[in-house]
Amino acid sequence: MDEIKSPKKPLIFYYIIVMAILLLLNLFAVPKMMQMSITEVDYGTFMTMTENKEIGQVEIEDNQILFTDQSGDKIYKTGLMDDPGLTERLYDSGAKFSSEIVEQASPIANFLLTWVFPVVLFVVVGQLVSRYMMKKMGGGNNAMSFGMGKSNAKVYVKSTTGIKFADVAGEDEAKENLMEIVQYLHDPKKYTDIGASMPKGILLVGPPGTGKTMLAKAVAGESDVPFFSISGSEFVEMFVGMGASKVRDLFKQAKEKAPCIVFIDEIDAIGKKRDGQFSGNDEREQTLNQLLTEMDGFEGNTGVIILAATNRPDSLDPALLRPGRFDRRVPVELPDLKGREEILKVHARKVRVDMSIDYNIIARMASGASGAELANIVNEAALRAVRDGRNLVTQSDLEESIEVVIAGYQKKNAILTDKERKIVSYHEIGHALVSALQSHSAPVQKITIIPRTSGALGYTMQVDEGNHYLMTREELFDQIATLTGGRAAEEVAFGSITTGASNDIEKATKIARAMLTQYGMSEEFDMVALETVNNQYLGGDTSLACSADLHGDIDRKVIALVKQQHQKAIDLLTSHREKLDELANYLYEKETITGEEFMEILNRPSTDPALSLTE
Ligand code: ADP
Ligand code: ZN
Repeated sequence: MDEIKSPKKPLIFYYIIVMAILLLLNLFAVPKMMQMSITEVDYGTFMTMTENKEIGQVEIEDNQILFTDQSGDKIYKTGLMDDPGLTERLYDSGAKFSSEIVEQASPIANFLLTWVFPVVLFVVVGQLVSRYMMKKMGGGNNAMSFGMGKSNAKVYVKSTTGIKFADVAGEDEAKENLMEIVQYLHDPKKYTDIGASMPKGILLVGPPGTGKTMLAKAVAGESDVPFFSISGSEFVEMFVGMGASKVRDLFKQAKEKAPCIVFIDEIDAIGKKRDGQFSGNDEREQTLNQLLTEMDGFEGNTGVIILAATNRPDSLDPALLRPGRFDRRVPVELPDLKGREEILKVHARKVRVDMSIDYNIIARMASGASGAELANIVNEAALRAVRDGRNLVTQSDLEESIEVVIAGYQKKNAILTDKERKIVSYHEIGHALVSALQSHSAPVQKITIIPRTSGALGYTMQVDEGNHYLMTREELFDQIATLTGGRAAEEVAFGSITTGASNDIEKATKIARAMLTQYGMSEEFDMVALETVNNQYLGGDTSLACSADLHGDIDRKVIALVKQQHQKAIDLLTSHREKLDELANYLYEKETITGEEFMEILNRPSTDPALSLTE
């Protein structure tokens, strides 16, 4: 499939150039050319010529007098004077009063300048603009071009390289759901015979980079139909009404090319709830209204299927979601372990890899990564292999690039002082130790204290716990304790604290708050929703849904909860002080500790406590 890229030079750019040229011509060139054949004389000469009856025609203007001699061959001009009897004297001299002397000055040049030149200029510019438009609308080899449409929808046509479902790894439920559309487009009769009509609109919902666009393309690729794709934000223009006309245009084209797929990415850009506030955006509302009208306007069996993608489904206008519009919702979630492994394999097919790579391990390490991130990890690994002068991507390339994609590049020239390195070692070990002491299993895959470009001074790769759908109250407590473990280790070991814990603090507070306000895990508030989640796929920020009174109570309870877990972490680390020292010491010297090494040290009998680094 070929996507037609449009050059993004705004049309207005050309208009401005034309205007500038015309303005300059009018200011300088035209008057100059006109005056070329006019001789300037003083007023005395003019009076003498009047008296001698040598004047043919005369034209008195606001600030000058133009006149010709008897034969009319030569044109003169002179300044205007306060001369009361002038008109009569001229009349007496037999001069003809005229208003066309200038035009006579150079009839051909004048004609060219005032008539031919502007026409030529506009034709040339018109050509340029229309060529630009054609290019924009698509005129490539394997692309359809369709008139001078106003819609920016790009057209994809079937080609041998089209994306198929096989290219989209994981996401089996979504694929199954969309398979029906493909079958319908292949054989609509089967459906129309029984009287079934396809849903007009299907909403793909999920976090960024999970393959929504890919799935839409794959539906088009599998069913061999044209694919129109436009982003919601492209509809919203500076001028009210432009977006609506784009929508109209898009649907007109789509109906002509039916059966086809129309894909609207980021539909939330136009489909936001119309809340009727003052800040309302007229243009957006008109565009949305037009979209609704268009969707109502065609029958379910015309063969135009609209797919839309969003990562903020809860912000969409309910009118958009009602039956007959986007009534089918296909979740496209972050891939699970198996999905991640498959996605890695799909992308690894495109690079030359070492046969012995264990994708399962990589997938485990990259817990929480989206499809786009996994694609990026494979690419980073390939780049790394090239950098090292190898022609195969190895396991360690992939492992290192996970850290690169998630935490940024190693910052080779960041020099931590010795003291800072010690603190970072203790901090990271603090987290891991508190976690291990609570769960009695390896908490981390790996910890390194090499600074990253993301600003992290160390990096901890958590153990992937597999698919985990429920969390108990105790597990959440443990999580908070683990998050406070870094700071607790600093306190236990050094008796002082640093700024290194700000991220931990944020996360711990978030969990504690959610326990009280969303999960109903406190006695006092019981099962009352005190907060609502706004957009679950984009960080999931919350807004309060309770009285200011209760708000104060919540804050106090959150503080108490975190404080309690923080104390638990301090107690755990104090009672395992020797292990804390031993592990931190190991990390400080080796810069990296794996999960196995960590557990090995934790479970072996203590060595000499004098190893402590803090002395
Ligand atoms: P979205 O539209 O959900 O934000 P995209 O479909 O644009 O995400 O995906 C971006 C890139 O991520 C794709 O080009 C592809 O390389 C990769 N990707 C994402 N999900 C998958 C998947 N399930 N299988 C294979 N590649 C994927
Ligand atoms: Zn920390």
